[in-house]
Amino acid sequence: MNNGKLTILGCGSAKPTKTTSPSAQWVELSDKAFLVDCGEGTLLTMQKLGLHTGRLYNIFISHLHGDHCFGLIGLLTTLGMLKRTQPMHIYAQPDLQKLLQPLLDYHANDRLYDIIFHPINPRKHEVIFEDRTVSVETIPLKHGVPTCGFLFKETHSLKKEDGSFEHVTRKRFAYCADTMYSEKIVPIIEGVDTLYHESTFLESMAERSKEVKHSTAADAAKIASLAKAGKLIIGHYSARVEDHSLFLDEAKPVFENTFLAEENLTFEI
Ligand SMILES: [Zn+2]
Ligand SMILES: [Zn+2]
Repeated sequence: MNNGKLTILGCGSAKPTKTTSPSAQWVELSDKAFLVDCGEGTLLTMQKLGLHTGRLYNIFISHLHGDHCFGLIGLLTTLGMLKRTQPMHIYAQPDLQKLLQPLLDYHANDRLYDIIFHPINPRKHEVIFEDRTVSVETIPLKHGVPTCGFLFKETHSLKKEDGSFEHVTRKRFAYCADTMYSEKIVPIIEGVDTLYHESTFLESMAERSKEVKHSTAADAAKIASLAKAGKLIIGHYSARVEDHSLFLDEAKPVFENTFLAEENLTFEI
């Protein structure tokens, strides 16, 4: 059994560049795969990396800005062409189903598998997914539209001498995009092994960052430090910054154990 892996499929912001596609991450916990956000091109990147859609049963969408969900219709239509029969569960705000359903009816009506939408409330911190070994909780974020992150927990049940079970959390991964600086999330993500926090702008663009409700690299690092995260991965880079090492230069003095998300990179959780 692996100990948790995170593969970056897309780490740019709204505008794709030569080196970045919009947001998408492949999370593996307890030998199960989860997709978090699905920007344009997500399926293509999955195929390049040999990540099999047959392993995927659950997709989590943080918010309905296009750079986080425009890849869904392509992915879901292709799964129909591949004759998938296993259901796909999508956890997102209720509006996603309203937006996607007409496209699915038009392009993927003959599919052999069910798409099950699970409406979530991004303003509430709650458990939205739970099986024997993995649970997922929402993390309410502060962005221009209703947005939440996701906290993944890998848990195992240990049998005690008296026959009862003790539930032990082994790994925790928090995905926080898109958001402006918000200390309100700290109690939810406290002590995570791995924190992904968006870092769209540099300090020189801090005013712009507040205006459009995003974070700077230093903002992300402050949150990681307050939350005592094991490590911080930053991404969702503005297309205006070509040299991503500038983000690292601003984050590391605040939180040393920071890494840059780059496409096709896999991190241990
Ligand atoms: Zn975005
Ligand atoms: Zn957004």
